[in-house]
Amino acid sequence: MNPTKKFVWISFQPLVLISLVALTGCTSDNVVSAIIERQIKANVTPEYVHDKENIVVVTVGTASPIPGERAQTGTAIFVNDYFFMFDVGAGVVQKSENMRLPLNELDGIFLTHFHSDHMIDLPNLINRSWLLGRKNELHIYGPDSLNTLVQAANDFLALENKYRVNHHGLDIMDISKAKGVPHEYHIPQNSKAVIFQQDGITITAFDVAHEPIEPAVGYAIEYKGKKVVLSGDTKRNDLVAEMAQGCDLLVHEVMLMSFQQLLEAELTKAGMDRTAKIIFDIQDYHTDTKEIAELAKNSNVKKLVINHLAPIPDNRILKKLYLEELKAFEGPIHFANDGDIFIVKGEIR
Ligand SMILES: [Zn+2]
Ligand SMILES: [Zn+2]
Repeated sequence: MNPTKKFVWISFQPLVLISLVALTGCTSDNVVSAIIERQIKANVTPEYVHDKENIVVVTVGTASPIPGERAQTGTAIFVNDYFFMFDVGAGVVQKSENMRLPLNELDGIFLTHFHSDHMIDLPNLINRSWLLGRKNELHIYGPDSLNTLVQAANDFLALENKYRVNHHGLDIMDISKAKGVPHEYHIPQNSKAVIFQQDGITITAFDVAHEPIEPAVGYAIEYKGKKVVLSGDTKRNDLVAEMAQGCDLLVHEVMLMSFQQLLEAELTKAGMDRTAKIIFDIQDYHTDTKEIAELAKNSNVKKLVINHLAPIPDNRILKKLYLEELKAFEGPIHFANDGDIFIVKGEIR
C-alpha cells in the first residue's frame, strides 16, 4: 500500500480579549490587574511551534508590494524545534507577534532576494527577537550581497542596542546576541546548493529567474521524508519545477497577468502613465497563474499554496478569475492568507 501524507490546515483566529473595564465600567486597580493577568495567561506559544515530527509552514505575510491590509512576504517554518523565517517584508514582525510566534526562539532568517517587500523588516526582526530575550545567535542566510545588508542592519541598530543595555543592564540585554550573523553564499545560474544541514533538516537554495534582479533564489526544506518548496519571486522556472517534483507543499508566488494587462490599460486611459509603466514592467519577472497550474501538475505537487498575490483575490470575481486559470492543476489549491498554518504531516501507515 502506498503511504499517503496528510495535511491539516488551520485558519488563524486572533484571540479576542474581553475587556472587563468595558463590561463593568469600573477602572479600579483590581479590575485592571485582572485584565493584565488575563492577557499574560493568554500569551501562550502555539503548540505547533515545537512539533518534532512534521514541517509546519505559516504564511505570516502574503502580499506583493501593493499596499493593503496584508503584510508583505514572510513565511515561518517550524521544523524539529527550529524556528526559521523565510523573507521578512513590511509587517511580518508585527503579524508574527500578533500570532504569538516566539520570536525569542528564532534560529534563522533566510532571504530569497533583496527587493524591499522581502527584507525591509530585517532590522526590526533582529531587534525584536533580541528585545524579547533571544538566547541563540540569529543566523541570517542569503545569496551574494547579504553581508552588506546585514552589516547595514546591525549598524542601523547600534544606538538602539546601546540604549537598551545602558537602561536594563547586560544581564537582561545580552549585547553579544544583539546582531544578526550573516551567512552569505553564492549560487551560480541554474544551480542549487545545500546551505543548511543539521538535526535531520536539509535546506537547499536554488537559483530562480527574477531578472533583472540578481541574485534571487528559492528554498526547499526537507525533513523526515517530507518536502516543502518556496519559489521566491520568479518567472516560470525549470529549476522550481525540478525542485518541486513530488513535493508535499509548494508555496509559489503568483501574478494574474490577464488582470495586470487590464489594469495597465485602464491606468494609461486615466493618464496615470508612471503607475502604468510600473505595472507593465513587473509583468516580466513574475509567474502567470496558468504557468503555475501547469508546473504544479507536471511536478506532481501534492498541495499548492499561492502567495505574494497580485492582485489579492479579495472578491468573488477575482477569485473566479484565478480559479479559471488554475484549473489545469487538479490537486488542492489554497490562496494564502496572512496567518494560515499548514502542517505537513508524516506518513500514515
Ligand atoms: Zn516580491
Ligand atoms: Zn522581487
